[in-house]
Amino acid sequence: MSTLVAARQAAARRLSAGLGADATPALDARLLVAAVIGVAPDRLVLVDDRPLTDDEIEAIDRAVARRLAGEPVARIVGTKEFWGLEFHLADATLVPRPDTEILVETALAWIERQGRQNEPLRIVDIGTGSGAILIALLSALPNAIGLGIDLSEEAARTARDNAARLGFAARGQFAVGRWAECCGPVDVIVSNPPYIASDVIRTLDREVRDHDPMLALDGGADGLDAYRAILGDLARVMAPGGAAFLEIGFDQAEALRVLADETRFEALIHRDLSGHDRVVALTRFD
Ligand code: SAM
Ligand code: GLN
Repeated sequence: MSTLVAARQAAARRLSAGLGADATPALDARLLVAAVIGVAPDRLVLVDDRPLTDDEIEAIDRAVARRLAGEPVARIVGTKEFWGLEFHLADATLVPRPDTEILVETALAWIERQGRQNEPLRIVDIGTGSGAILIALLSALPNAIGLGIDLSEEAARTARDNAARLGFAARGQFAVGRWAECCGPVDVIVSNPPYIASDVIRTLDREVRDHDPMLALDGGADGLDAYRAILGDLARVMAPGGAAFLEIGFDQAEALRVLADETRFEALIHRDLSGHDRVVALTRFD
């Protein structure tokens, strides 16, 4: 009879042998086994000696096989943690990335510098996906209200469900829409739009290329389609004294500076923890 700890170690060994050097086999095994037996990953050690049923052993086998075939852990378990909150995923939602927490931090730091963290700020999240960015901001700003927009109906529905489950339904609304077309003046605009150039997509890791939705990745021929659309609407959508925070690819800062200049916004670039340009903050030229 196999115990949970034995199954977890065996899963980690299989993943270690089958995945590349950048992989995290022990962590993956822990998350997969925890999801199969329905225990929070940080409580797994408490039930290490528990024997597994045949069904549980088979379910762990299937989960490990899916991971070995290139499926990300978040897709297999159906959830991903972002900003300390657990987001449910759907086929139409990107797996929220840790790097995107930099966007949340940058927006919050700007709001705090303005002393506006307790104001009833109006926030719009363009291309909300799972709702991760907007819901993270609502969790840190007790009086803010927000609208998450997505072209995908399934994404908007998933974000709405996440907001409800996490207790933010009263302050967060979600709707299907195209870029910022829907929106009236708001104080803070956030977006992690699709920004990968179309012909680069086939070169991405299989975890991204084969499992994240194309609508979430494809930024058009030069990767900048979404920024042009959003910046084109920004003068109308941004309330006086407002700001926009957009995630960018590591090599897009210069293009964003030019686009911002053309639309009369001031661009400030922020880096992520690996030192890559990651977020552009936009305010009006005054
Ligand atoms: N905000 C989420 C996050 O950071 O995890 C998801 C970001 S994902 C990179 C981009 C999102 O933009 C996807 O959910 C996609 O469906 C949405 N999207 C693509 N084109 C759009 C458009 N024209 N208008 C609104 N949303 C769009
Ligand atoms: N940051 C994501 C990646 O590295 C891409 C998401 C996007 O286009 N916004 O794959």
